[in-house]
Amino acid sequence: RIVVLGSLNMDLVLRVPHAPAAGETLLGHSIATIPGGKGANQAVSCAREGGHVQMIGCVGDDAHGAALRDSLQRDGIDTAALRTVAGEPTGTALILVEDGGQNRIVMIPGANARVEVDEAALKQQVQGAAFLVAQFETPMEQVARGIAVAHGAGCKVLLNPSPVQAIAEPLWPLIDTLVVNEIEAQTLCGQSADSPQEAAQAGQALRARGIARVVVTLGARGAVAVDADGARHHPAPKVQAVDTTAAGDTFLGALAVALGEGQSFDEAVRLGIRAAALCIQQPGAQPSIPQRDAVLRSPMP
Ligand code: ADP
Repeated sequence: RIVVLGSLNMDLVLRVPHAPAAGETLLGHSIATIPGGKGANQAVSCAREGGHVQMIGCVGDDAHGAALRDSLQRDGIDTAALRTVAGEPTGTALILVEDGGQNRIVMIPGANARVEVDEAALKQQVQGAAFLVAQFETPMEQVARGIAVAHGAGCKVLLNPSPVQAIAEPLWPLIDTLVVNEIEAQTLCGQSADSPQEAAQAGQALRARGIARVVVTLGARGAVAVDADGARHHPAPKVQAVDTTAAGDTFLGALAVALGEGQSFDEAVRLGIRAAALCIQQPGAQPSIPQRDAVLRSPMP
């Protein structure tokens, strides 16, 4: 079982010939309403990889909130701890995609800003769970409380510090596994993580703060796994990227489920890389997250 504490957004994806200028009214090509948000994406990825998942988060008392709850339930995710907050909109991302593929995004956190950790409930929820998974799209002090409660209850913490913010000193030793992209690695340790070699060094520096395992994801170059045995680079398969939205979230879900099943760290990272490679070949956030059988049928890098 995996408990995910995090954000849920409705992504409103508008395809447009170009970004509108001030005062311009533009005819767009299309609109799609697609479930997203890092927390929910990671929960969906865990579920599609075969994990039993419970989602802790908040949606607004509106149609998007109801749709997000339904969509998680269709993936078999337990939404008993998903709170509907009156008077707040559901988290929304307005995404303009220009013909050239360039994105412009406006995020409204809405109900995600109202997430509050119920310590007694969380203690029970993480009992016997393989991981508490968290990101930084919900209020930092609540994420910190969640991490402390889970760690105190003997549950391992898998953190994806995204969008990146400094991690408070007392939190570092409570993290079991840290998953960062190049930019997050660089921001958190102050050194470049641009190549597999640099990512390995950055990962070592992050691990030295008291973490068992660090993964630095490197986009088309795959990922670097760092643990007590050192750093290993795992390449990604060469694929045609259509839309990399949710690539990191897909990776993380597959990693978490594989680790929870007792697979080795390197096997888990390789499963994450294969899952993410399928994700980027489909448009959108949650619709592009693959099921495990598709991942296992996909070519090895
Ligand atoms: P994020 O999307 O969080 O910024 P990355 O860009 O590092 O993170 O992507 C996460 C993972 O998705 C990578 O480790 C890799 O496995 C996969 N991935 C991303 N872009 C590509 C690509 N162009 N080709 C193959 N795999 C990719």
